[in-house]
Amino acid sequence: MKKNTIKSIKGFKDILPDEIKYYRYFELISQKVSKQFSIEELRTPIIEKSELFNRSIGEGTDIVNKEMYDFIDKSGDSICLRPEGTASIVRSVIEHALVYDRGLKKQKYWYHGPMFRHEKPQKGRYRQFSQFGVEYYGFSDSNSELELIMMGNSLLHSLNIEQATLHINSLGNKDDKKSYEKIIFNHLGKYKSSLDEYQKDTLAKNPLRLLDSKNDNIKELLLNVPTLYETLSDASKSRFDILLKKLDDLEIHYLLDNSIVRGLDYYNDTVFEWRHQSLGSQNAICAGGRYDELVNSIGGDDVPAVGFAMGVERIIEILKLTDNLKIEPNIVIPIINTSSEEKSYAHLISKNLRQHFDKINFYNTDSSVSLTSQLKHAMRINDKFIIIITDANIKNNNLTIKSNEDRMSDTIVSWKELIAYMSNKYE
Ligand code: ATP
Ligand code: MG
Repeated sequence: MKKNTIKSIKGFKDILPDEIKYYRYFELISQKVSKQFSIEELRTPIIEKSELFNRSIGEGTDIVNKEMYDFIDKSGDSICLRPEGTASIVRSVIEHALVYDRGLKKQKYWYHGPMFRHEKPQKGRYRQFSQFGVEYYGFSDSNSELELIMMGNSLLHSLNIEQATLHINSLGNKDDKKSYEKIIFNHLGKYKSSLDEYQKDTLAKNPLRLLDSKNDNIKELLLNVPTLYETLSDASKSRFDILLKKLDDLEIHYLLDNSIVRGLDYYNDTVFEWRHQSLGSQNAICAGGRYDELVNSIGGDDVPAVGFAMGVERIIEILKLTDNLKIEPNIVIPIINTSSEEKSYAHLISKNLRQHFDKINFYNTDSSVSLTSQLKHAMRINDKFIIIITDANIKNNNLTIKSNEDRMSDTIVSWKELIAYMSNKYE
């Protein structure tokens, strides 16, 4: 590479054609499964006012403290590349009055697109990554969590991802969450001298975050603390028990896991996460929960809400490991053109072929080079079937084909014969 070439920014990556098939596959399957659950798509801009995320995600969180791609634009406004989808969807839902229309209107939305977080790039962690997310508005009972979990499982199953484990927990209501924060704060406060600066800071700002710490010291210190489940208020506990019972009844496996607390401020009651062991330490593939107060705090009415977000790059990583896409491979047929006068004739043939065979891809090779060079290229694209158009073909109103069934020797065919032959071979 030359010395002064421009490279991509750290943590941002290109998705090359070899990898695109996995993304396409994910898009295809996620849209199919969303449709099966009657969930509609909503697209929001990738840039929002910074305030939207500061207000919703919470000042004490990693995303707002450290990871926001926020800057002042040329008009002097503080704007931000979105770090997640939920707050934007809520903003849009309020702005377009999608959940209120003379009474409560219920909505189910999905979104898919790039998110941006300024964190340390590593395997499974990028500064630009994609999330596929689902959000339900207007549903307050635990059947909506149940349905979302079933939707997530169904999507993973349709993607052939079978070894994901569902971890679940309940944060309780606002007061439950606060009093549990106090329990953690008081308990770990006794061992402050063994905490590092970052842990002390987290303890002061967002103590629940320490529950999902991977640090052994913290894990050990937390061994004797009661779990969230043990401290829930009666209403939140019975709500959660009902959900767990439904999951049991439907034989949906889960692990009750006190380390699932979600980093963001807006969650209450049910929180959940799917993990996949093949991914090493960045093993969370999908996470979500209930957020009944967010719509109100962004300026809307009281609308109960629940949702999840799936990390698409981590899903792609699993798809690559298993390499088990249930898609038919593309058939690409090269069209070689060696005619000297009427170059457009080859393109007319190509156009007609594309119209006739909409599932087959055609590749016009470079007609400025020799037949030998075009043939060499064509064999690399498809060594079983090649179409050739020469001056003689144009004069005699026919085409030349090479097929593996004929040991790739030249055969002259009419247009009609070509269509019949290809229909027989590929359809
Ligand atoms: P983590 O604990 O891995 O940092 P998180 O709690 O920050 O995850 P969420 O905000 O819940 O993640 O996002 C949902 C999903 O998006 C995650 O489970 C993960 O699969 C994916 N994700 C989050 N951050 C990144 C990133 N920087 N790069 C790639 N995927 C990500
Ligand atoms: Mg994170």
